[in-house]
Amino acid sequence: MAKGITPRKEDYSQWYLDVIAAADLAEHSAVKGCMVIKPNGYAIWEMIQGQLDRMFKETGHVNAYFPLFIPESLMHKEAEHVEGFAPECAVVTHGGGKKLEEALFVRPTSETIIWSTYKNWIQSYRDLPILINQWANVVRWEMRTRLFLRTTEFLWQEGHTAHASAAEAEEETLKILDVYRRFAEEYLAAPVYVGFKSEKEKFAGAVRTYCIEAMMQDRKALQAGTSHNLGQNFSKAFDVTFQDEQGKLQHVYATSWGVSTRLVGALIMTHSDDNGLVLPPRLAPLKVVLIPIWKEDAEMERMRQHAQALTASWQGKISFKIDDRDQYRPGYKFNEWEKRGIPIRIEIGPKDVAAQQVVVVRRDTGEKIAMPQENLLAKIEALLEEIQNNLLQRARALRDDNTFTVDAYDDFSARIENPGGFFRVHWCGSELCENKFQETSRATIRTIPLDETKEQGACIVCGAPSKGRVLVAKSY
Ligand SMILES: [Zn+2]
Repeated sequence: MAKGITPRKEDYSQWYLDVIAAADLAEHSAVKGCMVIKPNGYAIWEMIQGQLDRMFKETGHVNAYFPLFIPESLMHKEAEHVEGFAPECAVVTHGGGKKLEEALFVRPTSETIIWSTYKNWIQSYRDLPILINQWANVVRWEMRTRLFLRTTEFLWQEGHTAHASAAEAEEETLKILDVYRRFAEEYLAAPVYVGFKSEKEKFAGAVRTYCIEAMMQDRKALQAGTSHNLGQNFSKAFDVTFQDEQGKLQHVYATSWGVSTRLVGALIMTHSDDNGLVLPPRLAPLKVVLIPIWKEDAEMERMRQHAQALTASWQGKISFKIDDRDQYRPGYKFNEWEKRGIPIRIEIGPKDVAAQQVVVVRRDTGEKIAMPQENLLAKIEALLEEIQNNLLQRARALRDDNTFTVDAYDDFSARIENPGGFFRVHWCGSELCENKFQETSRATIRTIPLDETKEQGACIVCGAPSKGRVLVAKSY
């Protein structure tokens, strides 16, 4: 256990905050509920952003930017939407020292401002589809906040697309859901359950909300991304129509989808340990740290030069750093990079130089490996992939070992408290029974899985017929 980090077993919530502090990722700010994302934390967000941005562009999307403010009248156009979001909105009433004629909402999400704009962009089927993404900040007035997981202001991306048919909109919604799933598994190394939300849990204004749900190490669920099929709800509210190929006027079909800085919280809680942050290599801004070791001052320069010679060909191929600060002892440096989650540490001392080897230490397992210096970069790159895979396997094992199938309500309510986890249960589909999960166990239906095998059963709450199992868990 590292100094200053509460063990997970003792207090998971405190451990999470301690890891953030130890890795210097973020801190609370002078504004209640808003955080300062520090350089180490922001670099991780940039890695997430960069990869997702590539994936959006590969699937045909482009970036644009819309205003931070939304006139009150626009917010009110879609009834369900305003009912869902208005209570958590910040509203600007004054500007330039005067009361505004119309109040401006600080965007909690941008459907309304974007659909009021799309109205001017869309006349014919030839103007469709529109496949736009925006990287932005949004504000939702949260009462209880937690760094990265729930903050009043947060960073995210929001995609807003317009289509000529219901089928095309559904296809887009599922395409993005799959981008999110692939990103979670291949980059975040976080296996996810994929499905859609119940009517009660869906996005305000959506026809259907799809989601990916990950399990954290305390066995709670974390919603890591959502993709909404909005049907014609927003195009009808904003009267956005197009002339189809037959010359008939139709309302446009819409989708919206987003992930946020919450993913940084997911990354921390999925992989980190009692020694600090553990970064999946593909999202690690810095992948390797080399630490030259010397005892006598006379050896210092030689070890430094050796580390430089060893990595001379690495520039531009891998993100690495030589930590040759002479005011700190090696043990201090090991500890510091460990806390910050750097996937691989390479130690090189006089004995290693003589033996033409280095000592490589894996952050995920702590394993120390003596490696010949020949072809070192290729070996390090292979090891980074192995670490990435190991983290995914480890997270998958935890999730699978803690996903249970239960049929009796008493069994469910006892086990959701201890040990916790994801529970596959039959549900009749009524909101009454859904509320009971929430009231008695503080758990919610996380998702109705897409790959669930259809089976007949009895609702775990009321006994009415059910056609399949849903996933229930406590969540962040
Ligand atoms: Zn029921």
